[in-house]
Amino acid sequence: MLADYHVHTGFSDDSTYPLEQVALDAVRLNLDELCFTEHVDYGVKPEWNEPEGARFEDGHPVTNCPYEAYLEELDRMREELDGRITLRAGLELGVQTTTLAQNKALVERLGKRLDFVICSIHQVGNLEYWNGEFQRGRAQEEIHAAYYEEMLGVVEAFRGYSVLGHLDLIRRYDPFGDYPFERVRDVVAEILRRVIADGKGIEVNTSGIRYGLGDFQPRREILELYRDLGGTLVTVGSDSHAPEHLGSYLRLAYRELAELGFEGVCTYEKGEPRPMRF
Ligand SMILES: [Zn+2]
Ligand SMILES: [Zn+2]
Repeated sequence: MLADYHVHTGFSDDSTYPLEQVALDAVRLNLDELCFTEHVDYGVKPEWNEPEGARFEDGHPVTNCPYEAYLEELDRMREELDGRITLRAGLELGVQTTTLAQNKALVERLGKRLDFVICSIHQVGNLEYWNGEFQRGRAQEEIHAAYYEEMLGVVEAFRGYSVLGHLDLIRRYDPFGDYPFERVRDVVAEILRRVIADGKGIEVNTSGIRYGLGDFQPRREILELYRDLGGTLVTVGSDSHAPEHLGSYLRLAYRELAELGFEGVCTYEKGEPRPMRF
């Protein structure tokens, strides 16, 4: 059983890989299941149908996923590939404590049309990591503290998600290098306790290997902590944006999870977890 639960397509602002092609490639890769998780980042990107004020890249406005066109195309591919692969509808929400109302409204509006929602902390106070704005003027300790405080604030107030995405993402954007896990263990434990109590899960994002972090995101210590706190719901995803990413390192992640004592990975249908044993 192979299920890639973190996949972007041309319906995300940072990918041009057509959804149809992703689905066909997934069949060729012998994936059993694939969940599309297109980007929505309130606060830093406008809605696709109201692009006023959007940043332009390559002549196109950078906006949130065009929900209707995305879900329609997904339905079309479901019919076309019926019986060959299971395709799930998901979103990756970049959630901030300042955009909770918008995120809640969207998840409510799309309801059961969504199988799966990743909650990611992509920006804090509308400042993004990828361009260095969030890190500017902050010491390493402050970068990590602000990142995890925001995450804690989000999970304390938001229930509209399935799993917490790439929990230690900030490691990838830390200009100071590695930061000892021990210094964030307490706040990460508090976050995980809340995730578990709410019946939510976490993802293992395999792109950390691609980016040369030498580990998945989150790192092994966080997976051990999650296990020790009683967490069982884990999805695995490649965070694919291009053909060479699709389905990458899924088996390696399954092996690590099995070694750590997890019994399987999770898939989702209409928001409900469906555990799959190794
Ligand atoms: Zn992400
Ligand atoms: Zn992603």
